[in-house]
Amino acid sequence: MILIVGGGPAGLAAAIACGKKGILLERNPEAGKKLLISGSGQCNLSNARSHEEFLAALGDFRAWLKPAFYNYDNQALMDLLAENGCGVWIREDGKVFPQSRKANDVLSTLLTVLHKRGGTLRTGFMVQSIVKAAGGFLVTLADGKRLAAEKVIVAAGGAAWKHTGSDGASYRLAESMGHSIVKPRPALSGVQIEGWDAFHQCAGVSLRAGLRIGKQMFKGDLLFTHKGFSGPVILDNSWRMEPKTAIRISFVDCTDFIRSLAENPKKRVISLVWGMALPHSVAEAAFRHLGISSDVTAAELRASERNRLINWLESAEFRIQSLESLDSAMSDYGGVSLMEVNSKTMESRIIPGLYFAGESLAYSLPSGGFSIQMAFSTGYLAGVSAVNSI
Ligand SMILES: Cc1cc2nc3c(=O)[nH]c(=O)nc-3n(C[C@H](O)[C@H](O)[C@H](O)COP(=O)(O)OP(=O)(O)OC[C@H]3O[C@@H](n4cnc5c(N)ncnc54)[C@H](O)[C@@H]3O)c2cc1C
Repeated sequence: MILIVGGGPAGLAAAIACGKKGILLERNPEAGKKLLISGSGQCNLSNARSHEEFLAALGDFRAWLKPAFYNYDNQALMDLLAENGCGVWIREDGKVFPQSRKANDVLSTLLTVLHKRGGTLRTGFMVQSIVKAAGGFLVTLADGKRLAAEKVIVAAGGAAWKHTGSDGASYRLAESMGHSIVKPRPALSGVQIEGWDAFHQCAGVSLRAGLRIGKQMFKGDLLFTHKGFSGPVILDNSWRMEPKTAIRISFVDCTDFIRSLAENPKKRVISLVWGMALPHSVAEAAFRHLGISSDVTAAELRASERNRLINWLESAEFRIQSLESLDSAMSDYGGVSLMEVNSKTMESRIIPGLYFAGESLAYSLPSGGFSIQMAFSTGYLAGVSAVNSI
């Protein structure tokens, strides 16, 4: 018998793959609480990009997640849902939703498939500990009951949005069995920036920009908020940041600006900056922040001011004050170290017969349906591998 801990998308996928051989244990009265709130209740369940583009979006985790994705890809998940009565809608940006836009339809379809394959779901079963025992494992529940298993799949989620049931149990269970845990930190989170007062008035402005963290550069949409930055380029890379991290934002390339400064000595510098499609409020805030008068003409601009301004426009430095708390960030980066799990099977390299899937693993993915797809893909691979090993 294979015990699967956690009834989110990863655990459901594992249980579907295990069929009659699996029992899915979920601590809540119902499975899939986080799935139900995903995509604001509409559930952006996958992304319909080509294999190559999908994998490229997984960034640093691309190579590790590739076997799981190829084993159960985006088309496989869309087909599974459609064949079982939950047609999908692919938005023009590639995001996949249920046709009804109701997360509940995704969950009920997965539960139907689980039932059809002969799987068992036990709700209200909270796993407290897992220990290695003769012939497999002994799983102890919160009420003290013990269950024996040949294999165990840990799919109890991460540590973000604890009230959905995912409170870091995966990490505690894995650590107690000797696994190293990457300390969880918020991911898919907006950031607060130190000394933000000058930019407070820019809240709501969205623009395309480059984000540099250390030596890495990312491009995407950036949103100014009342306390700092958000928007896809920040959310998707927030797992790389922590308080005190210095980030650099590249607002515009100044090649044309430098030329127009020389060609238009009588024009106000700020109007030349506006000419580069930088929103007015951002340009005004930057001038205030840099201590440059917004009335100064190109001829009057001092060399030191010119350098400061160009430097800021091309590579403005900001320092992270804080990220959202784990409770309000949509995801976390942390969990079972990928080095200790075989990516071709999802089996622990430390404890044979123990498998991990979904957000229990230390990866962080961008928004766009990648997280649910990869929870499903890793869960399915863990399930197939566990069955094949019996
Ligand atoms: C507000 C919000 C919106 C999101 N929207 C999207 C989106 O649109 N698209 C997308 O791709 N991703 C989205 N995500 C992320 C996505 O929901 C997760 O990546 C995904 O649910 C992870 O699946 P999982 O199965 O690994 O973990 P979870 O979904 O967290 O499931 C883990 C399950 O394990 C159970 N559990 C925990 N501990 C125990 C225990 N000790 N014993 C038994 N059971 C236990 C939990 O109750 C839970 O049901 C969103 C997340 C949030 C918070």
